[in-house]
Amino acid sequence: MICPLCAARVETEATACPACEMDLRDYAQVHYQPDAQFNEALRRLRRGQYAEAGALLAAVRAARPQDAEALILWAQAAHARSDDAEAVRILLDALELAPTPEVEAHYAAALAGLEAGAGAPTAALVDLAGRLRADIVRFEAQLHVQVEAT
Ligand SMILES: [Zn+2]
Repeated sequence: MICPLCAARVETEATACPACEMDLRDYAQVHYQPDAQFNEALRRLRRGQYAEAGALLAAVRAARPQDAEALILWAQAAHARSDDAEAVRILLDALELAPTPEVEAHYAAALAGLEAGAGAPTAALVDLAGRLRADIVRFEAQLHVQVEAT
């Protein structure tokens, strides 16, 4: 990594900068902990520990709210433990962040999974999610119109 104070190159495991002696332990923790948590979440997912993976990805989300990749993985963890309502909620956030075809596909799959297992309260949620999505699309279209008008 790069020392945030003097920009010297520092070994990843170093606890202090060799050039300016800045203590790097807290810095390294803040900057690399979400990466470590993301990787640990991947390991947990492969072992079928979906709740643990979900908790780790919730922490990544808190540290990096703009990380759509972590949201997609978090939604996969929710889907894997049959919580499609949670997966849909997470992917709605991901869609606002990154409305890419990949996220759209994950969202559509999660919504289909939710509909497939829908009881009465879940059906109401599916309906709500669909309308929220429609609102987002309409809102985005309005934004585009406003941007083009100015
Ligand atoms: Zn330094």
